[in-house]
Parts: sequence; C-alpha cells; structure tokens
Amino acid sequence: MGQYSQDQIHDFLAGNSDERLFALAAEETDSIFGKEVFLRAVIEFSSYCNKRCKYCGLRAPNNALSRYRMSMEAILDAVSAVEENDIGTIVLQSGDDFHYSTEFLGTLIQQIRSRHDVAITLSVGDRSIEDYAYWRHCGADRCLLKIETSAPSLYEQYRLGEPFAERLARIKALQQMGYEVGSGIIVGLPGMNLETTVNDVLFLTELELDMIAAGPFVPNPQTPFATAEPGDIALSQRVTAVLRLLNPGANIPATSALSALNPESQRLALMRGCNVLMPSVTPEQHRADYRIYPGKNRTLATATELINNARELVQAAGRIPSSSKGFSRRSKHYVK
Ligand code: SF4
Repeated sequence: MGQYSQDQIHDFLAGNSDERLFALAAEETDSIFGKEVFLRAVIEFSSYCNKRCKYCGLRAPNNALSRYRMSMEAILDAVSAVEENDIGTIVLQSGDDFHYSTEFLGTLIQQIRSRHDVAITLSVGDRSIEDYAYWRHCGADRCLLKIETSAPSLYEQYRLGEPFAERLARIKALQQMGYEVGSGIIVGLPGMNLETTVNDVLFLTELELDMIAAGPFVPNPQTPFATAEPGDIALSQRVTAVLRLLNPGANIPATSALSALNPESQRLALMRGCNVLMPSVTPEQHRADYRIYPGKNRTLATATELINNARELVQAAGRIPSSSKGFSRRSKHYVK
C-alpha cells in the first residue's frame, strides 16, 4: 500500500476527495508513462462459451445470442489488418470455448509470431495450466484472467459454484511461467459495496499484476442480472485512480464498459490514471454478436476506422496514442 493507509483508500473510494485523487493519479501516470497511451487491438474470435456467469451475455444458456467462430485464416487476416495500422499488441479473446484445440491455438500463436512483430495476449479463460505452458512456449507474451471480485463467496455466486481458489491458482501459475498477467474486477455487481471494493483494490494490488482492469457493471437483459442497477461510473473511475496510486507501473485500461454507459467517461478515465485503450477490431460481420453487455461493439466499422477512433479518443484526452508493445513497467520484458 506504500504511502496510503486503508482509511485513505476508503476515503478516496467514498468520493471524499475526487479532485485530489484524480490529480494524484494523473501525476503518477505521467511520471511513469509520460503522455503515452498504449493501444491493444482485441480480436474476439469466438462468442461460444461453456460457462454460465450470471452477469455475461456470452453465457451458454443465452439462446438469444447469435454465435460465431472464426477460422485460422480469418483470425490471421484480422491480425494483419491490425499490424497494418501500426498497433503493437493484439489480444486474442473468446469465451471458454474448447472447440479450439491446444494445438490449433499453438499454431495460431506461432503463425502470428512468425509473420508479425506484435505482443500476443491470450484471453481465453479456464484452459489448463499445461495449455498455457504450451502457448507460452509457442510465443504468447501475456494473459488476461479476471477475478471479477476478491470475495470468494461472491465469485462463486456470480460464476455458479466455480471455486475462486482455482482461478487464483491459475493466475499465480501464469505469473510463474513468465507471462505478463492481467486481471481485474467488475465494479458494482449485485452484492458489492464500498467495503468489498476496498478489499478488491487491496487484493489486486497484492497480486502484483502487470495489467489491472476495473470497469463498471453493465446489466445485460439476456442474463439473470437483467434488472440489476448498473455500476457507478464515478466509483469505477475512483477504483482505477486508486489502483494507479498503489500500482504505479501497471498498465490500467480505460474499459469499454465505461464507454457503453457513457462514452465521455472513457476519455475522462484516460485523464485520471488509465494508460491503455483496448478497441475491439473483430471483423464487422461478427462484432455485434460479441455481446457481453449492451453497448459493447455497437459501431460497425473496419479495423482502420476503429483504430483511428481509438487514436482520436486518446488525443481528445490530451494524450499520445502509442504504437509500442506497451510492456508494464513491472515486467521483466520492459527495457528502458
Ligand atoms: Fe463465459 Fe467469460 Fe462470459 Fe463467464 S464471463 S460466461 S467465462 S465469456
């Protein structure tokens, strides 16, 4: 926690000194990253998922969702479109979809590694430790695996009995394999309150992550949480600002969930401690079907247009879009 006590963190998250908090977070970000904002292009290559998380539109029981899977060729085409736009990181994201074999994803990673100079991030869920070790060997650099909450009882409620300890063990194993590891929470899920949020921030900090994401909950009408209240945008921004103070060298994205609730709030987050933007560049014919929550991927556009939009958003926040791979300042991969 360094120079901030738990009471101070509580006060910050309660909104008692927003002006000071946001100024401190901006100052800390500038001192580590300058004005640069790292862009990560997200390719959502499958909307199938075998899980039933109560907050997510991709959950298996959601029959109203039109599902898709992209072929190897289609994914590689999407990666080429990203690199043509001078982006240093791609994120390969899907639901928990075991249709794709370990070998298929390994070959995909090797193909990308041999053709492009980009960092490769995996966001493919609860695959085995052996799978992740193999993909690391194939050339993957990073993994994303969110905890959503640090309260095991809430986690197991949201994810219908899945053990929190398993997710935590997977995160730690990925760190030991030499991946840059990102995790995060959803702010304002039913059952959360200020105390649980303080605990979440402290817990995420103890994990010493390379990337930490925290965006507001956006209710999806096709889930059990359809009628729940959305998460609070201001609280979500306080969470990322406090995370910046506690984790100066971590990458912290201004999430697309902010934009789904209020597009302006994503720009503000970039002025309040966030240093990453992760535009989806999933091909047009699939974009609207990767519907974790309403308002996500609502723009139908080409990769070039989507990346240009992201660059404009960064510039509107008074910052500079970066084409670098954007390693975290905690990472051993980072070279000054
Ligand atoms: Fe599947 Fe992830 Fe959605 Fe859960 S949160 S239903 S694992 S895509």
